[in-house]
Amino acid sequence: MSSGNPESTVGGNEMGDEQDVNVWDVVVVGAGPAGASAAYAAAVAGRRVLLLEKAELPRYKTCGGGIIGPSRDSLPPGFDLPFKDRINAVTFSLNGKYVRTRRSRTMLFGLINRPEFDAQLVEHAQKAGAELRTGVTVSRVEQHGPDVPDRRTVAVVLQDGETVLARAVVGADGSASRIGAHVGVKLDQVDLGLEAEIPVPETVADDWRGRVLIDWGPMPGSYGWVFPKDDTLTVGVISARGEGAATKRYLEDFIARLGLAGFEPSISSGHLTRCRADDSPLSRGRVLVCGDAAGLLEPWTREGISFALRSGRLAGEWAVRVAESHDAVDARRQALNYAFAIKAGLGVEMAVGKRMMTVFERKPALLHTALTGFRPAWNAFARITRGSTTLGELVRSHPMAGRVLSRFER
Ligand SMILES: Cc1cc2nc3c(=O)[nH]c(=O)nc-3n(C[C@H](O)[C@H](O)[C@H](O)COP(=O)(O)OP(=O)(O)OC[C@H]3O[C@@H](n4cnc5c(N)ncnc54)[C@H](O)[C@@H]3O)c2cc1C
Repeated sequence: MSSGNPESTVGGNEMGDEQDVNVWDVVVVGAGPAGASAAYAAAVAGRRVLLLEKAELPRYKTCGGGIIGPSRDSLPPGFDLPFKDRINAVTFSLNGKYVRTRRSRTMLFGLINRPEFDAQLVEHAQKAGAELRTGVTVSRVEQHGPDVPDRRTVAVVLQDGETVLARAVVGADGSASRIGAHVGVKLDQVDLGLEAEIPVPETVADDWRGRVLIDWGPMPGSYGWVFPKDDTLTVGVISARGEGAATKRYLEDFIARLGLAGFEPSISSGHLTRCRADDSPLSRGRVLVCGDAAGLLEPWTREGISFALRSGRLAGEWAVRVAESHDAVDARRQALNYAFAIKAGLGVEMAVGKRMMTVFERKPALLHTALTGFRPAWNAFARITRGSTTLGELVRSHPMAGRVLSRFER
């Protein structure tokens, strides 16, 4: 529980002198990895934090659950990763052809189930002092108007009409973000991911243990994956939004080709991913956005958990400063500091990811050949997944890699 527990409901009850007591320092909207990290960071700094989530937890989220090095490194201290498998081999194929498996002596990345992983993150935020309310959908935020008692306060309006007050708000409400719309997030790339959770017999599960499959798909920028998790395979595909029928067909063909069509999925679902435009805002007034809500995602692989954890942590830390700001100028300065921290880190990684995506869209066979036939490319892939380097660092420290990218981008 939080150190203070503001009676934060207005509308009917008197605000008067008790106004400050009724205002949370930070309200976080959405309890995915971004929101849980933001709530953790603000709570650990000793602030009164309220985390609002529309679902009941644990909740399902369409996601491969791939945890690469940067995700592992961004978890709260003492977090015990609930791995369902540890991966040290990758089978690559080019739309089902030219199949080749690459192996590594050490673990490349791990796989988790999102309901369990996300719930554990929320527990850490709660242990740090954040208060959680589930089953509440945020309709909108207001920074002016009758529900906002003063210029230092944001009103968070819930679907049932209740209003919660905060000194700062973090929008971490995912890829259909209402808070992102309030901030005016602009997008460069929107993709649709489709997934099936397929329970399989032990013999099939054994065949996949420790190994994932990545298939470069038939539509530009598309790819498919098989991620094994004990007795269930997470099989998915992702492609540009607007090609829904072709993406669905790709998933069906992919599943059939793998000989998995005879097994009934326990869950079939879809979800959008989105990447921000370079000039997209990351805040408005006292409201910051992070994770999918801000369009923070690696554009090529659509890896988003590490982006959510890292941006969530920063948003929580800077929301504390915004909450402390006594005027609009100072709040704006702190929000700009948040934007600067994001752009200097995740922004650089996204820019290189965008370039990789351009090459991949144009020349998937080239990328496939490099990863399966050119050891330095495989080693780079392995080092990135382990977290010993990043795409951005690679291009910075190997000018040759940058030149190769530029050549194939054209
Ligand atoms: C098919 C697919 C596979 C993927 N695989 C991977 C992978 O293997 N590895 C990886 O790193 N990334 C992967 N990603 C990306 C990753 O899932 C996301 O980037 C990540 O979930 C973003 O976290 P988040 O906290 O920003 O948003 P979310 O995890 O979407 O959390 C947002 C939360 O906000 C809540 N919410 C939404 N609206 C409201 C509201 N109005 N009021 C209150 N609560 C609200 C939601 O219920 C949800 O709990 C994948 C994405 C897709 C679509």
